[in-house]
Amino acid sequence: MLVVMSNSATEKDIQRVAMFLEAKGFEARISHGEVRVVVHAIGVKEEVDQRDFELLPGVLEVIKVTTSYKLAARVSQGQDTIVEVNGVKFGDKYTGLIAGPCTIESYDQMDKTAQELSESNVKILRGGAFKPRTSPYTFQGLGEEGLKVIRSVADNHNMAVTSEIMDISQIEMFMRYVDILQIGARNMQNFNLLKELGKIHKPVILKRGLSATYEEWLMSAEYIMSGGNNQVILCERGIRTFEKYTRNTLDLSAIPVIKKLSHLPIIVDPSHATGLRDKVEPMSRAAVAAGCDGLIIEVHHNPEVAVCDGAQSLYPWQYDLLYKQIKQIAPIVGKEIV
Ligand code: PEP
Ligand code: MN
Repeated sequence: MLVVMSNSATEKDIQRVAMFLEAKGFEARISHGEVRVVVHAIGVKEEVDQRDFELLPGVLEVIKVTTSYKLAARVSQGQDTIVEVNGVKFGDKYTGLIAGPCTIESYDQMDKTAQELSESNVKILRGGAFKPRTSPYTFQGLGEEGLKVIRSVADNHNMAVTSEIMDISQIEMFMRYVDILQIGARNMQNFNLLKELGKIHKPVILKRGLSATYEEWLMSAEYIMSGGNNQVILCERGIRTFEKYTRNTLDLSAIPVIKKLSHLPIIVDPSHATGLRDKVEPMSRAAVAAGCDGLIIEVHHNPEVAVCDGAQSLYPWQYDLLYKQIKQIAPIVGKEIV
């Protein structure tokens, strides 16, 4: 349930509503939107009578949220959530860009890639230090050493860092090196991890699970938000279908659907979605045309020698060309790449 306060509501009115909700057994969360203050009633209480709240001073209206996710629901706030990191914005009219290799291999590899990407205006560098590999016998990542490398390379190029976290025990370490924490597809329903990430004050990229429905995905976002962290970026990275030609099947419908259901930004990862370098460019252009709030793209300074996901990694010159193209496409759909 949402209690929307009128423009003339005083701080006292807002506090009264919050206290009344708490007395009824809810947790009250006050959010100050651009236009109005909304008091969210968190918790499940079937027997509550909406009229009790409608009659309180300063209350404009009471909205019953019927979806199973509440804080992530579109109705829960008037405006789109914008997540901003290092001057890059995701959400509303902004399309943010993230690029970098699949995995951190060495200082030299990261530095060469970051150098090239900085020439294409990349401000957020990606790179995995802990890799969720399907086989335990393949490269598992450099671990904390890798995080140190990506942090220092990013600092040298004035970039922010995003990297995938796999376990609760790594949160403290990630807070030291990383600006955006990434939850991989395989961990979308690691509920204990999601709950813990609700307590931190850094943005989280939540990748869609391999076969997750929109509702399951938004419920996972709700786990993070219910802990108090509203900075969630959803990432469509392809789903598992019967088709084997591409690594996954990129579900571009996710963009308009999520925008209807939620105020959270949605970005697209065309690299893991297609698994093929030559499919990354057209699908990136399509995602921007469909109004996505950002892209996360794998780029390696020399993909032929990449330890991981070389076949889907762009050459830096390809990324540069793509960047120039999507910068032209974005304004056609009312978006801006900053
Ligand atoms: C990644 O981004 O490196 C990755 C492993 O992606 P996903 O979780 O989408 O497979
Ligand atoms: Mn990868």
